[in-house]
Amino acid sequence: MPKSRVLITGGAGFIGSYLAELFMDRDWEVVVMDNLITGNLENIEHLFGKQGFQFIEQDVTEYIHHSGSLDAILHFASPASPIDYQLYPIQTLKVGSLGTHKALGLARSSGAKFLLASTSEVYGDPLIHPQPESYWGNVNPIGVRGVYDEAKRFAEAMTLAYHRAHGVDTRIVRIFNTYGSRMRLNDGRALPNFVCQAIRGEPLTIYGDGSQTRSFCHVSDLVEGIWKLLHSGTHQPVNLGNPTEIPIIDFARKVLEATESDSDLVHETLPEDDPRVRQPDISRARDILEWEPKVTLEEGLRLTVPYFKQKIRETGNDSTTVRESD
Ligand code: UDP
Repeated sequence: MPKSRVLITGGAGFIGSYLAELFMDRDWEVVVMDNLITGNLENIEHLFGKQGFQFIEQDVTEYIHHSGSLDAILHFASPASPIDYQLYPIQTLKVGSLGTHKALGLARSSGAKFLLASTSEVYGDPLIHPQPESYWGNVNPIGVRGVYDEAKRFAEAMTLAYHRAHGVDTRIVRIFNTYGSRMRLNDGRALPNFVCQAIRGEPLTIYGDGSQTRSFCHVSDLVEGIWKLLHSGTHQPVNLGNPTEIPIIDFARKVLEATESDSDLVHETLPEDDPRVRQPDISRARDILEWEPKVTLEEGLRLTVPYFKQKIRETGNDSTTVRESD
């Protein structure tokens, strides 16, 4: 019996690399395609040389091809942190639009299932809380976050158009804030910033008064949900995230506890269009996938902090905190 084969765009990124590992562990062949603008080969270096693993350095907004058979395509290529997509606004729009089109074209011609990595950002600054998949969202199309939000909204529309018009077997996952090892230290998101600041004894930078909320999911839970979604029969978007909601200032305090740090908290200006609240309604994932996250925030931080300590030891103690204004 030949093994099944999956192509993962963005497979050298944070979430993509965990998916590559999971599919290898479950006896699939894995082809990672990444242009490495925000991905990093270090994330997948342990997979190089394993039978059935292949890496192709390529920008998926260009024509993409794979000569072997493909059973699934997971489209995860995109800058994904607010800092990154504001640094690469045009690439972000292109990978969500042209890249999704190319990946869907390959799925159609190879008869592969297609799974789109969408995002809670399609809900923008939500007026309905928590957010069910039926909510259409509140997005500022011309704001600084619009490049990501609209690219992903377009990508969802394109995915369902290929399903309806060409019968491609598609899935859409709306991913809420996810964390774990392999996040870039300087990607600017709350978790890498806070953990690095706490380890270095620097003040933790709370944007605004810190009352804005997020709901943080450990990456091991997320990739299990994505596996289940791929193997389900649903074409509708499915939220995956941890419904435990926390104000950012309390999240910073949890990081201080997990790192045993006595760093101060300082307040800085809130970035433009920063969503006030965010919490997934995961009823659909519970019903259809029988999935829910298992890792608590305390446990997830315990799993994640050693990675950041190790990276800081390797790279020296230089501050890497970045802000949109930098
Ligand atoms: N945030 C913060 N300090 C930081 C980085 C982020 O207070 O050093 C806030 C940010 O303004 C947002 C929340 O933390 O309200 C989560 O930000 P992140 O960039 O992780 O992801 P987002 O959910 O906004 O995409």
